[in-house]
Amino acid sequence: MIIDLRSDTVTKPSKGMLDAMMRAEIGDDVFREDPTVNKLEAHLAKLFGKPNALFFPSGTMANQTALKLHTQPGEQVICDKYAHIYNYESGGASFNSGISCKLVDGDKGMFTAKQVIEAINPDAYYYSKTTLVEVENTTNKGGGACWDFEELKKIRTVCDSNNFGYHLDGARLWNALVAKNETPKQYGELFDTISVCLSKGLGCPVGSVLIGDEAIMENALRVRKVFGGNMRQAGYLAAAGLYALEHHIDRLKEDHAKAKDIEKVLSSLSMIKKVEPVETNIIIFELEDGISETDFEEKLASKDIRIISMGGGKLRITTHMDYTDDMHEKLLKTLKNLD
Ligand SMILES: *Cc1c(COP(=O)(O)O)cnc(C)c1O
Repeated sequence: MIIDLRSDTVTKPSKGMLDAMMRAEIGDDVFREDPTVNKLEAHLAKLFGKPNALFFPSGTMANQTALKLHTQPGEQVICDKYAHIYNYESGGASFNSGISCKLVDGDKGMFTAKQVIEAINPDAYYYSKTTLVEVENTTNKGGGACWDFEELKKIRTVCDSNNFGYHLDGARLWNALVAKNETPKQYGELFDTISVCLSKGLGCPVGSVLIGDEAIMENALRVRKVFGGNMRQAGYLAAAGLYALEHHIDRLKEDHAKAKDIEKVLSSLSMIKKVEPVETNIIIFELEDGISETDFEEKLASKDIRIISMGGGKLRITTHMDYTDDMHEKLLKTLKNLD
C-alpha cells in the first residue's frame, strides 16, 4: 500500500466515473459537435451564472488563455509572489502573452485591495501598463488557504475604477466553496474569468474549464487552438467532469477533516518548526533547523509514504479522494512514531 500525498492530482477514476466515461455520447469537438463537452460547458456556465465556458486539457492552458484574452504584449498582471501563473506555468505569461507579473508580497498567497492599489504602475508611457489582477483560491503554495470574500470584493472595486480585468485561478475553488460555504454564483458575479480544475480534488483524470463573460470569451476558442488545446472526442473526459460535479464536491469535507488531523499530529512533533494553518486539503510545514527535507522525505518514503518538497525548507502533504481511512490511520501512526 503506497500512500501518495504529493498532490491531489494523483487520483485515479473511480468505477462510477469510468462507467460514466464509457457511456459518454461523443462527437468531434473541433466542430463543436461533442454533446458531452457541450453539456459540461453549459452546466458550468450556468453554475457560475456566466454566459460562456470552454473545456481545456489543463488548468495551465485555461489560465494562460485567460491571460492572453485579458492583455496585450508589454502589459502587466498583478498577482501574488506565490501565484501558480508566476511560479508553475513555465514562464508562460511572458512566453505566450508577452506580459510581466507585478508580484505582491501577500500572506499565504493572498493580498489586500490596498496592496493592489500600491502595485498599480503610474500612468506614464515608460511604465508597463497594468491591465489585469489575478488571484488564486484556494492558494496552492499558500497551503490551501481561502480568501476572505469581502477582500475579493474590494479588489473588484479597484479593478472597476481602473478598468482592469479580474481573473480567478480556481484550480481548487471547489475546496474553498466547501470550506467557506460559498457558492459558484458569488464568484461568477465577481470575476470576469474563472478557471476551475476537474483533475484536482474532484478526481477526474483530465480537464479544466474556463468560465467567463461573452465579450472576453469571444476569442477563447481561437486562443485555445493556437495553444494546441483543440480536442476531438473529448466527451469521454467531459463525462468524468459531469460525474465529478455531481458526486465529488460534498465529499471534499472528508479530505479537509483528514488534513486537520494531520496538521494536529505534525504540530506536536519536535522536529517540525511550523505548520501553516490548515483550511482545506493542503498542509505546508517546515522542519526544525538542521533537519534535512530530503532525509524527512526519504524516511517517510521508506514506509511507503510519499510527500513533496516545495523548496525553501517547506514540505507539502495533500489529501485527496484516493487517500483512504486505512491510509490515514497508518500515516498518523507513522508520524507519531517519528519523534
Ligand atoms: C494545478 C493548478 C493549476 C493547473 O495545473 P495543471 O496541472 O496545468 O492542470 C493552476 N493553478 C493552480 C493553483 C493549481 O494548483
